[in-house]
This record gives sequence, structure tokens and C-alpha cells, in this order.
Amino acid sequence: MSKETMKAVTVYGPSLAKMEVVPKPRATGDMLVIKVKRTGVCATDLSIFTGESSFIRRGEIKIPCRFGHEWAGVVESVGEAVTKFKPGDRVYSDNFVSCGKCAACARGDYMSCGDIRSVGTIKCWDGCYAEYMQMPERHVFSLPNELSMDEGALIEPASIAYDAFKGVALTEKSTAVIYGNGAIGMISAWLAKYYGAGQVIVVGRNDEKLKLAYPIGADAVINNKKEDAVLRIRELTNGRGADLIVETSGAESALRDSILATARYGRISIVSFYERDLNNIPMDPLVHGCISLVGAAGCDGNAPAVCKIMCENPVKLTPIITHHIPFESCIDVFENQPKYNSEKIKIMIDFD
Ligand SMILES: [Zn+2]
Ligand SMILES: [Zn+2]
Repeated sequence: MSKETMKAVTVYGPSLAKMEVVPKPRATGDMLVIKVKRTGVCATDLSIFTGESSFIRRGEIKIPCRFGHEWAGVVESVGEAVTKFKPGDRVYSDNFVSCGKCAACARGDYMSCGDIRSVGTIKCWDGCYAEYMQMPERHVFSLPNELSMDEGALIEPASIAYDAFKGVALTEKSTAVIYGNGAIGMISAWLAKYYGAGQVIVVGRNDEKLKLAYPIGADAVINNKKEDAVLRIRELTNGRGADLIVETSGAESALRDSILATARYGRISIVSFYERDLNNIPMDPLVHGCISLVGAAGCDGNAPAVCKIMCENPVKLTPIITHHIPFESCIDVFENQPKYNSEKIKIMIDFD
């Protein structure tokens, strides 16, 4: 392969992705070119591949799409205007790229940029199922030496879950319940414990995955295929219900149960996409219980905040990585999703 090209994966249509040789990005101006070391596979990536993503249906994600947005790597080259990084630096990035030119960008309010693009998703900035990433310096952060590349690639999903806890004060007396035994669910359990919840309960449908919640910080797990989770949560909280529920499963039934299992004045944070409108949601118990229902999808500043927590927290998140797949065979993860479903929490794509 010439020095000017690299391999990258592009989604071309429902269940069609190709690994191709494409031009390698260049480091000019304030841009860095970064050798990707790890890419995390996200449920959003899987739904872009199958075409089920609601963002595709709404035309917000355009096909073909060079997807992938959870990653970490090593700086290979820097543009002439870059001041904070040099080749060899270990880095991770935001999951969005602002235009860098408008009034909002000038005052550093990147989330208000009128031309913001998401890495590997909406208004797609070329994503990280690729050997190299190009990113502007303002969206790149240095990865501390004490964190591994695996942890670096977990910062993005953790930065999404992070929003679920904003404005919530958890104490020794609080119960936090997490719906979903996927990666965002596990990360939410890890954050709930870090923030001091006395009791952290993870609700899921897979005993093997639920077991992995304990080393992350869970005090109890509930398999809601086998037990009535609402009843069990009421039991574990002396009838009170949960102070915080983080709904990460994207299942309508989980949102319904969340409303029925939340304490009066409690909060439900939703960190999942449902990919459709919902019907059977009991609104009156929500209103009567004065329950807050909050969406959480990540924002500017979260990634460095999560990186700091990873450094401070002696509890490691890495047990949620259930698979390492070499980049050369990463399309298999998309083409043969059922093969991985029963065991996977976070699949990591390795580039070396
Ligand atoms: Zn993601
Ligand atoms: Zn802008």
C-alpha cells in the first residue's frame, strides 16, 4: 500500500459494507492525522449497517457512510497550525466536529455550531473503521499514560452515559437502577457506583452478561426474562422505588417498567434510541410521581470529564470488552451479528 492510501470500511446500503483502499487524510492547518489503534463497535454502527437506524430513515445519516465513532490512537502527523500535539502522542477525540469558522465556534461553543458534523453518523465526518483519522486539534485530547488504548476507545460511549447523571445527587441512601446489560448499561452502572449510589441494580436479559456487572459496580442484578423487575426493584428499595433509573436498552417495555419502578420525585435518564415512536407508555404514574424524564446523548466537555473519572476510579471498565477482532476481519462483526449477540458487550477492533 502506498503512503498516500489506507484501508477504510464504508457502508453502501442495507447490510452492505466494503473495506476499500482510499486516500489517506492529510495533516494541514489545524488538522491532525492519527493512526487508529482501537475502534469500539457501537449499537448505532450495527443499525447503520442494517439500515434500521432511525437517522437513516429520516435522512440524517446519508449512505454511503464511512462510519465508526468510538476510538483512540497515536498522532502520526500534525498540520502547521497545530500547537498542542506532536507525532507519537496518544489521543482520543470528541464524537463531533464543529466548523471552526462561525461565531459559535469562535467563542468555543462548539455544540451551537451551525455546521456541526458527527463522527461516523449524522452529517458524517469520516469515521474510525479506518487505519487513519483526520481531526481538528480543538476536538482532540491527550490520552493519559495510565489509560490503555482499550480504555481510550471506551471514553466515547462513557461520555454518552455521563449525561444520564448530570444534575443527579446520588448518596449512600440512593438506589440507581440500570436497564440494559449492553456496554452503555455497564458503563452507567460503573458511573452510578463512582458517583456514590448505595445500591446499584442492573436489569437485563442475559445471565452471562449480567454477571459482568458485578466487577463494574453492581450490587444486584435482575434477569427480567425470569423475574418481574418492577416488583424486585420495589422489594430491594423497601417499596420506595429507584431514585435514578438509567434506561439504556431501547425497549419500550423497559421504559414502561422504568416509570413504574421510579421513586416519587425520582428521575429517569434515557440513553438509548428506540428507532421508532412508542405507544404503551404509562404517563399518569409519571405525572403523579413527579418523575423527571430526561434524554441523554452526550455533549461537549463530557469526553475529558469521563477520561478524568477513568484515571481516578480504581474500578476498571475494561471487563466489559468481550471481544477483540482484528481490523482485517471487522466486517464479519456486521455481517454475522447473531454470532456475537449472545456474548458480546463491547467488541473492540484492534489495528495492531
Ligand atoms: Zn456509540
Ligand atoms: Zn462552527
